Amino acid sequence: LVALHDVHLSFGANQVLKGIEVEVRRGQAVSIIGPSGSGKSTVLRCITGLLRPQRGSIRVGDTQVDALRTEAELIALRKRVGFVFQQYNLFPHLTVLENLVIAPTRVAGRDRAAAEREARVLLEKVRLGHKEKAYPGELSGGQQQRVAIARALAMQPELMLFDEVTSALDPETVGEVLTVIRDLVNDGLTCVLVTHEMRFAEEISDEVYFTEAGLIVEHGPAARIFGDPASERTRAFLHRAL
Ligand code: ATP
Ligand code: MG
Repeated sequence: LVALHDVHLSFGANQVLKGIEVEVRRGQAVSIIGPSGSGKSTVLRCITGLLRPQRGSIRVGDTQVDALRTEAELIALRKRVGFVFQQYNLFPHLTVLENLVIAPTRVAGRDRAAAEREARVLLEKVRLGHKEKAYPGELSGGQQQRVAIARALAMQPELMLFDEVTSALDPETVGEVLTVIRDLVNDGLTCVLVTHEMRFAEEISDEVYFTEAGLIVEHGPAARIFGDPASERTRAFLHRAL
């Protein structure tokens, strides 16, 4: 479903991606782990078309993302790719339900009643069915993050990207967000996660990529990467992180 080949990207003189290769098959959960500044978020932003690499190929389904030129093409891509990151960025003046309904009705042109029905199903899925009338400011961080996940799902994406969605949360609320992501993975939704939650990555990932300094040092099944890493660098990173 996703394929990055030889992706190079620089910010000015700063070479951030130096030939990234990633492949994600439909239904897989793939984690990207690695030290701060290694380029993990940049990889996700390339997949959504938010950043354009100077070299290399990025494909999502049949779409050649690096070749998209018009705003309309990028908007069409972003309807198919849900993106949740550390800051939840909910609309503070809208209720939880309204946060989920606004994009499907305004961007995707879906019927309002149908969008509301779907939103309620999603709120149940993230275990917030009782909060549809609340405003984001009345919710805990973990609850807001679960709303943000439901809001992304409301566009019925074929692919979900999660960028350190738990790193701004209190330790007590991390688990409830991870539980929601685990459910999505078990439902077979294709997911790419950047996370510092190593145990979680090990548990839910089909495939794990370890990045360092803009390169994929190694990748493989979670059990192999965590149990028997091939690279000394991976070993050292996991030793520090676990
Ligand atoms: P972290 O674990 O801290 O989130 P990361 O692996 O996600 O790190 P990136 O955010 O992808 O790392 O950043 C990789 C490098 O690119 C860093 O050196 C960062 O300073 C640089 N960088 C990222 N975004 C920009 C930008 N918009 N303009 C200039 N440099 C940037
Ligand atoms: Mg990052």
